[in-house]
Amino acid sequence: MSTITNHLPTAELQALDAAHHMHPFTTNDELAAKGARIITRASGVYLTDSDGNEILDAMVSLWCVNLGYGKPEMGQVAARQMNELPYYNTFFQTSHVPAIALASKLAELAPGDLNHVFFAGSGSEANDTNLRMVRTYWAQKGQPEKSHIISRKNAYHGSSVGSGSLGGMTYIHEQGGMPIPGIHHIGQPDWWSEGGDQTPEAFGLARAQELEEKILELGAEKVAAFIGEPIQGAGGVVIPPSTYWPEIERICRKYDVLLIADEVICGFGRTGNWFGSQTVGISPDIMTIAKGLSSGYAPIGGSIVSDEIAAVMNACEFNHGYTYSGHPVCAAVALENLRIMEEEDLLGHIRNTAMPALHAALEKLGEHPLVGTVNVSGMMASLPLTPHKESRAKFASDGGTVGYMCREHCFANNLVMRHVGDRMIISPPLVITPEEIDVFAARATLALDATYKDLKDKDMLKIQS
Ligand SMILES: *Cc1c(COP(=O)(O)O)cnc(C)c1O
Repeated sequence: MSTITNHLPTAELQALDAAHHMHPFTTNDELAAKGARIITRASGVYLTDSDGNEILDAMVSLWCVNLGYGKPEMGQVAARQMNELPYYNTFFQTSHVPAIALASKLAELAPGDLNHVFFAGSGSEANDTNLRMVRTYWAQKGQPEKSHIISRKNAYHGSSVGSGSLGGMTYIHEQGGMPIPGIHHIGQPDWWSEGGDQTPEAFGLARAQELEEKILELGAEKVAAFIGEPIQGAGGVVIPPSTYWPEIERICRKYDVLLIADEVICGFGRTGNWFGSQTVGISPDIMTIAKGLSSGYAPIGGSIVSDEIAAVMNACEFNHGYTYSGHPVCAAVALENLRIMEEEDLLGHIRNTAMPALHAALEKLGEHPLVGTVNVSGMMASLPLTPHKESRAKFASDGGTVGYMCREHCFANNLVMRHVGDRMIISPPLVITPEEIDVFAARATLALDATYKDLKDKDMLKIQS
């Protein structure tokens, strides 16, 4: 058996990495000068790097590893499926047990009449499916011109050409000719950064009503769908005011616009319910899933669609699919992930144990002079850093400078917190215990203190004028 356990020394691995490996969303020259952090193994909530540091992962890698690392059943199921049927496609009038079982299970878990699954290999692919599916749906219903899709600024829906266009990240759009035509972006419901003097409720309503304005501007007969993450993840854990989603749903229904909930992060327990749509109280027509579907143990995503959409789509040939749609090993691993979630009553653990402990810890962190407020829903949170809490002021330095400093101090204290601009992002394993949350809070406090001292020493606690 090949093994990489007895690996080369860190410096040699870093040199090979720099010479041959192009990292996503990275300035590779800068990384090469510094050397990548190399993760060699992980167990529970802790990562181990090539120098033997034990790092608490409060981001579950990229919002994925909800079950924590090293669940032996996951590996066993993968090995068994590899031996039984490592791969078969689902294109040519064939199917296989893992895809059938996973689709049935998802239909059971998903709310309302979301009973049909189109598999993909990732969240990006699933959103590309959605883009083509909603346009094809309306074309099948004799309205081919009902093809425009409305999304939000600062949304993240993936980085393929289609899903990156659906997303609202300008730094993605700037590279490679995006967004593609027919996609429009309205304002995001980020009260902390953009709400000014309005109450959160009034601001939430106003941002939702931008959807109505955009539909009227384009003509309702031209608008196929609206897409949004129940809670924006990569955009900085933006929790919309309570007025936002009910108004969005009302507008979608009024103008016969399909509602797509991108559940890639919110799905599978992250917000304290199976799906984020349940937490924010909406009934979407399509849900995008990935990440937590398999706890990241295998790459798999998909679209769960309503009876009505399936009825229309199933009457035509949809010329779309991925070689790995419903890959048997990935489907078996996802199914095992869902089995463990149910058997270990993970939702019960979240609601009764992990959420109360995490929220209490975050409330304490919120008292830190650098932390503007605590945004939290279930097990996802952000701490916007500010030089002045009362006015929600930004730092005079370029956006992200302070967040990056804080992230580096987190690493130095063996903690992974990501930063989005000057916000610190938290998304711990859903299995995390109160004792581990104490470790998280202690390390986060050290990192915040070190950042504060740094800012003072460098005279960087200035407010943007
Ligand atoms: C990560 C993410 C995606 C893209 O998923 P990939 O598997 O990286 O393609 C889509 N939507 C949301 C909300 C995400 O967080």
